[in-house]
Amino acid sequence: PYNGPSADEVLAKRKRFLGPSILHFYQKPVNIVEGKMQYLFDESGRRYLDAFAGIVTVSCGHCHPEVLNAIIEQSKLLQHTTTIYLNHAMTDYAEALASKMPGNLKVVYFVNSGTEANELATLMARLYTGNLGMISLRNAYHGGSSGTLGLTAVSTWKYPVPEGNVHHIMNPDPYRGAFGADAQRYAKEVQDHIEYGSSGKVGGFIAETVQGVGGAIELAPGYLKLVYDIIRKVGGVCIADEVQTGFGRMGSHYWGFETQGVIPDIVTMAKGIGNGLPLGAVVTTPEIASVMAQKTQLNTFGGNPVCSAGGLAVLRVLDKEKRQAHCANVGSHLLDRLRSLMERHDIIGDVRGRGLMVGVELVTDRKEKTPAKDETLVVFEKLKDLGVLVGKGGLHGNVFRIKPPMCFTKDDADFVVDALDYALSKL
Ligand code: PMP
Repeated sequence: PYNGPSADEVLAKRKRFLGPSILHFYQKPVNIVEGKMQYLFDESGRRYLDAFAGIVTVSCGHCHPEVLNAIIEQSKLLQHTTTIYLNHAMTDYAEALASKMPGNLKVVYFVNSGTEANELATLMARLYTGNLGMISLRNAYHGGSSGTLGLTAVSTWKYPVPEGNVHHIMNPDPYRGAFGADAQRYAKEVQDHIEYGSSGKVGGFIAETVQGVGGAIELAPGYLKLVYDIIRKVGGVCIADEVQTGFGRMGSHYWGFETQGVIPDIVTMAKGIGNGLPLGAVVTTPEIASVMAQKTQLNTFGGNPVCSAGGLAVLRVLDKEKRQAHCANVGSHLLDRLRSLMERHDIIGDVRGRGLMVGVELVTDRKEKTPAKDETLVVFEKLKDLGVLVGKGGLHGNVFRIKPPMCFTKDDADFVVDALDYALSKL
């Protein structure tokens, strides 16, 4: 049994020693002391079904034994040296990760987070093209550093610092976007923006393939193909942010960009790549990587032996346990059941997503799509009381994000839907 500090004590210390900008979920935040696969346990031993995976980060499952063992064994042998010496852990892992990539995406850089991955991708795009201008989508989240904050376009996170020559374009959001799911019209807007609203020179275009923080928004079908063509014609490179969408979570595909039938020039990864380890990666082509050779590049911790051993185990476990197919299977069951809830609860305006990356948007009025912010908060608290931890997001904070560890079962999905049904009926 746990006999560490209580939730109140932890919260008091957080207030005292950690910055005021960090956020916690729930009026009375839960004190999570242990995790096992798709379950989390609080200080009293109460079990929660984790349907948010530490913000879409735990891929194989909390403390998955095989990943854990790889980390422990490597830790006993060697934890760190950096790339100034040789060690096989990083090269073995890079080879395995490259084998998961299509086309000529074969050069791997290891970093420690999604923010760092997107910083590096931006640097590469600018060096390779000689153009500074970056384009990202409204409602995108790409990081919180001063550089990536420019790429991020969700107001909640945007401190007023220089944007660094980033342009935000219309979000091809099938539910709320001005052109619905009409990818052609959104793409035309991108073309117009480049022609009329910029120098005409583009370094790079970056997009999540399904927006995560923005509320599980799948880009209008066919959008990336059209936009990648436009960007490449003006000399820019195309970056896919797979921080939330990669590694089979989509179910139908291993990578999110594959759902749009494109191959990016640069792919960024983090979160699920490490099942909880601080790990990120950038994968690109030898041609683009070659521009980095004009200087020396170092990332002290990036891909250190422990993270590499863990990351390699994650790839192995996801394959061995056939998690992509599992995400397709459980995800479609979850989506079906959520869609049938819509018949009974008018407050559900939209159910969307793919695999185990699902969003449920609450509105007070289906026609006007007025965000049901207060109701979302009430249901969110109620779900926690019922033992279900989901995420929350979207521009108006009215979207439940269901993105559990990928070991989540159909029974778990049923439990989430039943809890949601009950919570909504109590509104
Ligand atoms: N890209 C996406 C799509 C993300 O969701 C996030 C984190 N929410 C990031 C980048 C930044 O990752 P990190 O917090 O690891 O820096």
